[in-house]
Amino acid sequence: MMLERQRILVVDDERINRKLLSELLEVHHDVVVAKSGEQALERMQADTGIDLILLDVMMPGMSGHDVLRRLKGNDATKDVPVIFITSLNSVDDEEIGLDLGAADYIIKPFHPGIVRLRVENHLRFVRQRKMLETLAGRDCLTEIDNRRRFEEVLEREWRRAGRGTGPMSLAILDVDYFKQYNDHYGHARGDQALKAVAKALSGGPHRSTDFVARYGGEEFVMLFPGTGAAGARELAETVRRAVETLCIPHEYSAIAPHLTVSIGGATSEDFQAPALALVEAADSMLYRAKAEGRNRVVWLA
Ligand SMILES: [Mg+2]
Repeated sequence: MMLERQRILVVDDERINRKLLSELLEVHHDVVVAKSGEQALERMQADTGIDLILLDVMMPGMSGHDVLRRLKGNDATKDVPVIFITSLNSVDDEEIGLDLGAADYIIKPFHPGIVRLRVENHLRFVRQRKMLETLAGRDCLTEIDNRRRFEEVLEREWRRAGRGTGPMSLAILDVDYFKQYNDHYGHARGDQALKAVAKALSGGPHRSTDFVARYGGEEFVMLFPGTGAAGARELAETVRRAVETLCIPHEYSAIAPHLTVSIGGATSEDFQAPALALVEAADSMLYRAKAEGRNRVVWLA
């Protein structure tokens, strides 16, 4: 099985250590480095895709212990495993580190083989945790529901609608020129943009019965049970405007100086057909929205 590359942050004030650890780990993973505790925290703020941190303890300015305390005090970073890598080699130091919440403790001078194996162990835990979240219906990045949950909700609502609860509308949303965004601004900024879009969607004008999920990549879905075409289209338009209003700069978009989305939608009143038919209808409208110039809502008339 092809494993997705995981991202490791190496924090050490000494260049030689950053170099050795990077060279050791970048064969199988993406490695980013920070020279100080302050820089490490900045990086964690900007990059939500870090899976594991190798953290030096003795650094001028903010120590590794301080960095870990700050990470644990922040909901966005408290679950990222941290391995201390340090020349403090007394048992007491190790206990302090683990007590602060470190996942592991490696003593310098380190043995490359051991570092690699310990890192792999922790990265495996991270993958398992993400898999559990996926099974539970959560999208790990945006923290809204995922495609799996969407498919469950769609089936359930489709059966309900079949018992006469009215029409059902579905919209699929795609971020315009997202590949160019990632290519030019990097995956960390790309992840942030997706989170912002997810927030705009889930904080939108919806009623409690409406449902939004990340469908995959830069695609999202919105389900409006009991809502006809005119009402749902209006809600989709509000979402499109809400993303525009975020004013996330996108210099590499061919249609606007900021990030925009295209939305395709469809409405069904016939629940004998499989629910998938509605998804396919919305998807073909999305295709049309793209073809007609993007940054718009196209609804199946
Ligand atoms: Mg040091």
